[in-house]
Amino acid sequence: MRSVTIRRSVIDSILTYAKMAHPKESILILQGKAGGGKILIDNVIIPPLATHGQAFSGFPLSMLPSALSIMGVAHSHPSGVLAPSIHDLNHFYGRIMIITAYPYDSEYNVRVFDGKGNMIRYEIS
Ligand SMILES: [Zn+2]
Repeated sequence: MRSVTIRRSVIDSILTYAKMAHPKESILILQGKAGGGKILIDNVIIPPLATHGQAFSGFPLSMLPSALSIMGVAHSHPSGVLAPSIHDLNHFYGRIMIITAYPYDSEYNVRVFDGKGNMIRYEIS
């Protein structure tokens, strides 16, 4: 499996945004670079037209910028379940999916998955 590195600032943004949106879901677009079997996530973007806590199912993927720098989407699970749902996998976008689950306290509440729902180990730097 490819190696994934996530900037500390990105983890912090994901956790903070999830806390603000709770008990609704939050969604952030992941920006970065991919090459040589490695992925670096170094920025997040608030999705265009996404209102605070809008349900993931209502998110218009067609509104995403079609830039090569989009690595995937991060969203929160207010339920506390730290795994993708069938719905999440059916709507997988990009290269990786990040899920953060309640209580969003630290990186231990953050996991990275591929399009099949397999957990991918990641480093924070
Ligand atoms: Zn989900």
